[in-house]
Amino acid sequence: MDIRSVGVVGAGQMGNGIAHVFALAGYDVILTDVNESALKNAIDIIDRNIERQVSRGKVSAEDKAAAMARITTTMTLADVGPTDMIIEAATERETVKQAIFEDLLPHLKPHTILTSNTSSISITRLASRTDRPEKFMGFHFMNPVPVMQLVELIRGIATDQETWDAMHEVVRKLGKTAASAEDFPAFIVNRILMPMINEAVYTLYEGVGSVQSIDQSLKLGANHPMGPLELADFIGLDTCLAIMNVLHDGLADTKYRPCPLLTKYVEAGWLGRKTQRGFYDYRGETPVPTR
Ligand code: NAD
Repeated sequence: MDIRSVGVVGAGQMGNGIAHVFALAGYDVILTDVNESALKNAIDIIDRNIERQVSRGKVSAEDKAAAMARITTTMTLADVGPTDMIIEAATERETVKQAIFEDLLPHLKPHTILTSNTSSISITRLASRTDRPEKFMGFHFMNPVPVMQLVELIRGIATDQETWDAMHEVVRKLGKTAASAEDFPAFIVNRILMPMINEAVYTLYEGVGSVQSIDQSLKLGANHPMGPLELADFIGLDTCLAIMNVLHDGLADTKYRPCPLLTKYVEAGWLGRKTQRGFYDYRGETPVPTR
């Protein structure tokens, strides 16, 4: 199966990174979003991020120009239908993702492979709402996409071997490394990472430590490159909460109960870096803890 063109649905922090790495690897990319300014921002961010790679000597100016020329944007979801592979990277909400796949169906080529970059939602359930569950998989990038080496490949119950092999080959062509995960809530990375972040929020909620002392403890005490609260802000607190809810509902175990303080931040619209406020306030020169 020869994959040449890729449709990316959702041009947020993951969508722009996904478009970036596919375009640099030589794929034609068409990026769509319901929000016009997200599309414009995405192109600016991709341009800036590839320029940084040029200034470090990792990418040539010619390769950058070619990559930028391979990316087109559209507000019309149907335009991404006739591609070889689609990666859905919209907001982490099952109804949103289901509606996207349903709306895409009439516009797909018979061979188009559907994938979702979901952090936690059942691949099997998303696939079952399409006309091609055997050509449906989880293709889960890590954030920031251009920097992180891993792609988690998640097999739905109906995913066929040909689709799996084709996606494995795409990961190889992107210069990344695949890890296989079975389709259970939050797969591997977030099944382990997100309860740790949620526990860090409980530690803050119960007054065991301040934002600063919690992050410092994990950085200096466990050699983590980022503290858990700093990382939560980086991921997006809405995404963190959505993943905890999927773990809680999907595994029916109270150990995955989302911390009420995490819910409160999301209710306030303090979603982390993307809204400039979360466990830290990013509006000034340096991030300032908000608690
Ligand atoms: P984000 O909030 O930065 O971006 C989501 C984008 O989706 C927004 O631009 C929004 O306008 C768009 N969108 C919403 N509904 C849409 C629709 N119907 N059609 C097209 N676009 C639509 O979120 P993100 O952090 O980029 O996350 C996107 C996906 O990637 C989620 O499924 C998330 O779980 C997953 N993910 C996130 C991370 C992370 O660290 N943030 C890591 C891995 C995977």
